[in-house]
Amino acid sequence: MRPTRPLLFISDLHLSPAIPNTVAAFERFISVTAAQAEAVYILGDLFEYWIGDDMLATPFAQQVARTLHTLSERGIALYLMQGNRDFLLGTRFAKAAGATLLPDPFVFDAFGQRVVLAHGDALCTADIGYQRFRRVSHSAAGRCFFLSWPLKWRLALAERMRNKSQTTWTPERMAVADVTQDGVSDLLRSSRASILIHGHTHRPAVHRQSVDGRVTERWVIPDWELDHGAPRGGYLVFDESGVSEHALD
Ligand code: MN
Repeated sequence: MRPTRPLLFISDLHLSPAIPNTVAAFERFISVTAAQAEAVYILGDLFEYWIGDDMLATPFAQQVARTLHTLSERGIALYLMQGNRDFLLGTRFAKAAGATLLPDPFVFDAFGQRVVLAHGDALCTADIGYQRFRRVSHSAAGRCFFLSWPLKWRLALAERMRNKSQTTWTPERMAVADVTQDGVSDLLRSSRASILIHGHTHRPAVHRQSVDGRVTERWVIPDWELDHGAPRGGYLVFDESGVSEHALD
């Protein structure tokens, strides 16, 4: 890839009809902020949950897909990675949004650097129970099994998983919900990338470390929440001068 214009990265917007201000900020980002971009990368958890592309039947999903589709109409590429909450985002949604689905992790070269992209949940290797669930839910058989359930059952399960993730934030849980040094180093080593960009942990920062004698940067994308408490959000820009973090316009 030989981009000339900047690449933009967002993740963890957790969009749902229950957070209209966050949805409005997302629409502003796509229509205004992304206008000069070469490409927009959404690295997972765009939706609070996505339990199969039959959710495209809902007006809310159609609204989000329509907003995203304006990018390709303006010659701006859109890349979409699944998160842990919307791991069932599929080709039907991608088509409706004018997006290309990316595998997790995904490696590419741009502006003279090798970059690896991930949602981030696979890097939280201390959470053994979650990693077991992830392996099953991300397998073809696991997906197929879950998608065979009636929509009502899937909704009920998604609701249960959400409630569970909201009520159990003990300090121990917080610790295993971050990436591990091993998870990060393994990915930087196997991908031979100098830049890792991921979301998921909601701990925006840049971490510099040496891997096999190479200096690497790990950029964590901020999550968005403009409906409860102090508004937060933001995005990363990657261009010829490297990666930088930006507040929402
Ligand atoms: Mn996540």
